[in-house]
Amino acid sequence: MVKLVKIFGHAGITGNVIADHEAKEAARKIVNGQLKAQATISIEDARKLATEIAMRSWQRQWDEHSKGRKTHEMIPNVGTKVVWPTKRDTAISYYRILLHDTLLKSDPFRTGISTSSICECGYHSETVEHFILHCPEYNSERLQLTDTVESLWQNVKDSGYAFDKLHFIVAPRSDDIVDTT
Ligand SMILES: [Zn+2]
Repeated sequence: MVKLVKIFGHAGITGNVIADHEAKEAARKIVNGQLKAQATISIEDARKLATEIAMRSWQRQWDEHSKGRKTHEMIPNVGTKVVWPTKRDTAISYYRILLHDTLLKSDPFRTGISTSSICECGYHSETVEHFILHCPEYNSERLQLTDTVESLWQNVKDSGYAFDKLHFIVAPRSDDIVDTT
């Protein structure tokens, strides 16, 4: 029996390395005339192939690019369907968080506008992660947020506890949503 599974990011996966090797080997044999390639390909297959190549190329660029690394942390796979807030001002805050361009101290510090990145609580750099998940100044607001988020999202990957992953808050994926309808 053959079991097909979806794998995000192929590097270092043994099966994928073998498949890549086999594909290269087949291509080499076709070039050398040892193997005869199919002369025609259907439009449907050509479209699939083109999409696959484009997606792979996009993923490789996204993985290797030096810019947008904060966004990459939260949305590592290209083609991920992210759920955006319908309220405009909330959506703008989301975009700013994803673009690493907030008014929290670590962003203006990084761009040279501010002289310190340290949070009001006095211990840590005021990053999005610190502000939303850890800063003791916002404990009561966080409890409220936790309650709301927990009723909306489920953690599909780990322990069943959603609040340990920042992306559930700022870039929820459509497959994270619990369908309550
Ligand atoms: Zn703090």
